[in-house]
Amino acid sequence: MKRVYNFSAGPAVLPEEVLREAAEEMLDYKGCGMSVMEMSHRSKMFETIIQEAEQDLRDLMHIPDNYRVLFLQGGASQQFAMIPMNLMKNGVADYIVTGQWAKKAYKEACLYGRAKAVASSEDQTFSYIPDCSDLPIDEDADYVYICENNTIYGTKFKTLPNTKGKTLVSDVSSCFLSEPIDVTKYGVIYGGVQKNIGPAGVVIVIIREDLITEDVLPGTPTMLRYKTHADADSLYNTPPAYGIYICGKVFKWLKAQGGLEAMKEYNERKAKVLYDFLDESRLFCGTVRKEDRSLMNVPFVTGDADLDAKFVKEAKAAGFENLKGHRSVGGMRASIYNAMPIEGVEKLVAFMRKFEEENLK
Ligand SMILES: *Cc1c(COP(=O)(O)O)cnc(C)c1O
Repeated sequence: MKRVYNFSAGPAVLPEEVLREAAEEMLDYKGCGMSVMEMSHRSKMFETIIQEAEQDLRDLMHIPDNYRVLFLQGGASQQFAMIPMNLMKNGVADYIVTGQWAKKAYKEACLYGRAKAVASSEDQTFSYIPDCSDLPIDEDADYVYICENNTIYGTKFKTLPNTKGKTLVSDVSSCFLSEPIDVTKYGVIYGGVQKNIGPAGVVIVIIREDLITEDVLPGTPTMLRYKTHADADSLYNTPPAYGIYICGKVFKWLKAQGGLEAMKEYNERKAKVLYDFLDESRLFCGTVRKEDRSLMNVPFVTGDADLDAKFVKEAKAAGFENLKGHRSVGGMRASIYNAMPIEGVEKLVAFMRKFEEENLK
């Protein structure tokens, strides 16, 4: 059996222990004679799986009782519509546009109300996080929206924006559970799980209870109302059951690693290996303003497109997969999520050093 170092931005690397356990339970989950994939989502067995998953997530993130946890489908992209449909009571929302995902969310919100881009870093290819300490937040804004970690560009909000008392909504898809966060600072936290938690097909929404109401935009489909899913404990219809089961295993794995404080420490150590090398390298350089660097997604370039392509090709041959940068940025990107072991990053850096020696003119 061969396992590569997988630097994919998503779907992405999962903990090997979790995959092994899932493999062992594939044919016969805990003596019930069937796989979790084959079991009724109304069964006692599955009820335990989803309830434990929720409880473990609550423990990891210290989610207060006045927040609900929803396991939904449609990916992070469906939330781009669900958020305005459910939260735009005044029909106004402010968006901070720090990358393509935030921009997509902003454009979607424009379909439903008066969405405004109150800050953007598009002027410099989204390579930094704008100053959000004193933005022209609309008096009537129903919420302020951010994409907290920008998967494509490799930037991360290190301090949350000053929302001037408005509800903060955050897409945490690519930094979910990578470090502790203070849930009480947000109205809605959501993310697709395929970056840092589990298999594609599940999106987790953590939402303050008072934001879940019947008062949604006219025409909002039943399936796109938070209330529908909150009232049914995420079992209004068939949920992405197998995906939730794997997420649950990852939550247990994270607890065993020491929780989010320990993950933060590990992720910082891991990212430092790569960033330190990029800062000293004479061939490679990072593309993001230093103070805004993501712990999870690290874009870098040589400055020569042909050399970038050569690097990606040779890295692949050496067992380092999915290092090609997003098509909108070019160059390379190493996504180093929770499940990427530090040895993977150390070996990548050793490989980059060797490539540098061989290719520096
Ligand atoms: C990947 C990603 C998305 C899109 O996720 P889908 O589940 O494919 O819709 C949205 N936001 C961020 C930050 C992402 O990284």
